[in-house]
Amino acid sequence: MPVIKHVHKYLRVRSYRDRKYITWRCVLPTCSHTIAHSFISGKESVCWKCEGKMLMSGRALQRERPTCEKCRGIKQKKALEKVDAVLEGLDLKDII
Ligand SMILES: [Zn+2]
Ligand SMILES: [Zn+2]
Repeated sequence: MPVIKHVHKYLRVRSYRDRKYITWRCVLPTCSHTIAHSFISGKESVCWKCEGKMLMSGRALQRERPTCEKCRGIKQKKALEKVDAVLEGLDLKDII
């Protein structure tokens, strides 16, 4: 069967033999590609949220299902808005 070239969609998995040993596995049904954790940095992957292309680096490596910077950015922005809302809810004048 010909191997169709694609961007792997990586899922972080632990080795069956050694639970401390982390590997990354492509979850696409036609692919059995795996790569050691030490080689994943800088590789292309598919974002679990928007299905767009992304690079495996930094914070993406800390997640079992990595998402691209754009998707993480949206999440961070939402978290910041939440903090703002909490701060607005507090009447700081009363405290000061
Ligand atoms: Zn693949
Ligand atoms: Zn994304």
